[in-house]
Amino acid sequence: MRLSKYLLPTLREVPSEAEIPSHQLMLRAGLIRKLASGIYSYLPLGLKALKKIENIVRDSMDSHDAQELLMSAVLPKEYFEDSGRWTVFGPEMFRLKDRADRDFCLGPTHEEIFTDTVKNTVKSYKQLPMTLYQIQTKYRDERRPRFGVIRSREFIMKDAYSFDTDEKGLDVSYQNMYDAYKEAFDKMGLEYLIVDADSGAMGGSGSQEFMVKSDVGEDTIAFCSCGFCSNIEKAACVAEDLNSKDDEKEMEKIYTPNSRTIEELVEFLGTDAKSFAKTLLYNADGKIVAVMVRGDREVNETKLANYLGAIDLEMASPEEVFEATNAQVGFAGPVGIKVDVLVDSEVSLMKNFVVGANETMYHYRNVNMGRDFSPTFVGDFRNIEVGDVCPKCKNDKIQTCQGIEVGHIFKLGTKYTDALKCTYLDENGKEQTPIMGCYGIGVSRCMAAIIEQSSDENGIVWPVSVAPYHVIVVPVNTKNEEQVELAEKIYDELKKKGIDVLIDDRNERAGVKFKDADLIGIPVRINVGKGASENKVEFIKRKGYEMTEMSSQEAIDAAISYINENR
Ligand code: ATP
Ligand code: MG
Repeated sequence: MRLSKYLLPTLREVPSEAEIPSHQLMLRAGLIRKLASGIYSYLPLGLKALKKIENIVRDSMDSHDAQELLMSAVLPKEYFEDSGRWTVFGPEMFRLKDRADRDFCLGPTHEEIFTDTVKNTVKSYKQLPMTLYQIQTKYRDERRPRFGVIRSREFIMKDAYSFDTDEKGLDVSYQNMYDAYKEAFDKMGLEYLIVDADSGAMGGSGSQEFMVKSDVGEDTIAFCSCGFCSNIEKAACVAEDLNSKDDEKEMEKIYTPNSRTIEELVEFLGTDAKSFAKTLLYNADGKIVAVMVRGDREVNETKLANYLGAIDLEMASPEEVFEATNAQVGFAGPVGIKVDVLVDSEVSLMKNFVVGANETMYHYRNVNMGRDFSPTFVGDFRNIEVGDVCPKCKNDKIQTCQGIEVGHIFKLGTKYTDALKCTYLDENGKEQTPIMGCYGIGVSRCMAAIIEQSSDENGIVWPVSVAPYHVIVVPVNTKNEEQVELAEKIYDELKKKGIDVLIDDRNERAGVKFKDADLIGIPVRINVGKGASENKVEFIKRKGYEMTEMSSQEAIDAAISYINENR
């Protein structure tokens, strides 16, 4: 491909709409353009990289015996009504009507549709197990689209669904996809962790996420030297016992003006955050509940939603807080409160702690559970934190890091096959329900994750396997015929050898060309400059900028072997 004719609008400036390196670089390198919040177009260079990623995913699926098909993005409401998800998806679902006023959505995911397809096409146990997949566009009206294609509202996902006759079969299908995912992410050159993930309130028997380690990742991963590795949404906590053996003191009400937050209270009372128990109020599908965690801890909303079976969980509004406590925000507590009180296990081990008094400007000191209030339920409702005892080995301390979720594998069970009445006939001619697994890869998110892990101050450094082009040939001075001629010869030769090659035949200054080549991150650059008269060129690897002068034929051979070794 000739850069003189290529749609490659590179930018020198960092676009202000982009906060993180991958988003900035994808805009600057002319890979994508924004159309609306969370909605992007892929320009030729971006699409080329996206297709490479897609093909890596496709190859790993095909080599693990998954069958590709393609479903519509426009999906009728009925299927989602059968599963209950027409409601569950809430505002995240893009909905539309046809001319006859029938309801549709733009598919946010396809469990229902694959289940229905199997229901209509698979009759006998002899056809199972079966894993089907597609690489297709998904639509989710995210609450906070951000970071470019990392969290967008239209994105490409590979979604696969396995159908088995028993749990053992599901374990095999799941392991098969696990292996396929490892193969795909390894091929993309990603550094990732495989973490235990939340399976939701009703959901299945196991789930893992593939997390690309990155400071900009929205997920927090807790890990330990013993091998424990879990999304904090899921990680079980070991309660710390600070003073459970202390004698109970007499409860007293204290005047705490302008002390609504734990920080303000710590300052005002001159004590440690660990001697407080926070009471947070939530609205769970319309019902107000209180949750208590130690003053220095955070409520884990996933654990809370799972316990409550809540679809929609939000912090209660100031009005709702007032209604439940008769006090302004910041003074809620368990003593005398009229709503259910869920208590984190750690709080149940605390003695003589401080809580809000359900009266504006007041707290209680020396509160004790059982004596001063009764919990509705005691359980694990907090986030695990750095320094906590590991819940697996109970020995070492927990560390955390951030991750970008690029893949998710999930043992679903019969949730959808039951809901959509999908059955097959077993060897005795009896109707049975297939057991499902589902497996997703955020194909477009992978592209950003790769760039997040593989870039430097000058631009993207594509791993060869996903690079949109392998080699860029740069005639340094396009007015010099010798240089142009040699560059064209190298370009033709590489093209003939099946290398994806660009030639920068633009009439630009060398500096501009080099900067663009660095920005778009092509793994090998061949500069054809003054040495052309002696058939000498410069061979430069983008990664590490290792440069060698060699003959044009040596450069062609070096490029071919470097690309073939790494692709
Ligand atoms: P998240 O927690 O990031 O919202 P999810 O749990 O909703 O992800 P799944 O429903 O499991 O995601 O979807 C499978 C994969 O699709 C995810 O692992 C992720 O890589 C990708 N994905 C999900 N939502 C988005 C999005 N808004 N933009 C881009 N990729 C996404
Ligand atoms: Mg999501």
